[in-house]
Amino acid sequence: MREAAPSDRTKVHRHPERARYDRPSIDAILDDAYVCHLGFRVEGQPFGIPTMFARDGDRVIVHGSAASRMTKTLATGVPVSVAVTLLDGLVLARSATHHSMNYRSVVVVGHAQPIEDRVDKVAAMRALVERIAPGRWERVREPSDAELRSTTILAVPLDEASAKVRTGPPVDDEEDLSRDVWAGVLPLAPTAMGEPIPDPGLPAGTHLGSDVRGVLERLRPKP
Ligand SMILES: Cc1cc2nc3c(=O)[nH]c(=O)nc-3n(C[C@H](O)[C@H](O)[C@H](O)COP(=O)(O)OP(=O)(O)OC[C@H]3O[C@@H](n4cnc5c(N)ncnc54)[C@H](O)[C@@H]3O)c2cc1C
Repeated sequence: MREAAPSDRTKVHRHPERARYDRPSIDAILDDAYVCHLGFRVEGQPFGIPTMFARDGDRVIVHGSAASRMTKTLATGVPVSVAVTLLDGLVLARSATHHSMNYRSVVVVGHAQPIEDRVDKVAAMRALVERIAPGRWERVREPSDAELRSTTILAVPLDEASAKVRTGPPVDDEEDLSRDVWAGVLPLAPTAMGEPIPDPGLPAGTHLGSDVRGVLERLRPKP
């Protein structure tokens, strides 16, 4: 496992005290998030494309149509960054400049590797489905050969990664502290789930199943 030290590319410069490089800190943020932004260049133009992901051990798994520019570009092995953000609060300061946000974020840099081996590809697909609802893989149809052929699955190793965490109140200048304006943090609730909306084609009486109930129990707002 990687040492808890940054590489030249992952060293946080601004507020280095907010940086974390140990895998438990990085994994905890990745495992709490559903969406990442993949950064890569196409003909000199940088793009940041949002997509679902799952951490599978020492790698981040993403997938997409084999026909998409994202998967076709990344499969060639170009440099990629994976950015993940969890927003915890809005930080309201007494001065315009010191407004901020409380967050937990991760940046991974490296190269994506296409997963070609059928067994590994199915395992990666399983990681993505289980990320959405643990236990669901056992209940749904596995991908067919044709579906696997039309889907590109990519793995980005967690070899070079950093986390950054901001917590706490605004950091105002001393001379602004007496200013007559509210300052503090407006916390944002973690991802919260609403009531399930059944697919219109679902036969009446189809039960939610333990996989769906598990997600609801975890993410429904607590009374
Ligand atoms: C929700 C949110 C709001 C933010 N708002 C601002 C803002 O308004 N202004 C501002 O300057 N910054 C903001 N940041 C922080 C911003 O992400 C950078 O950390 C900041 O630009 C300083 O980067 P740097 O010069 O130290 O690092 P850079 O030289 O830009 O990056 C070097 C390396 O540090 C690591 N790194 C940098 N930032 C992060 C991060 N956030 N998470 C994990 N790894 C990181 C990466 O590995 C990167 O390759 C915000 C972050 C979040 C998540």
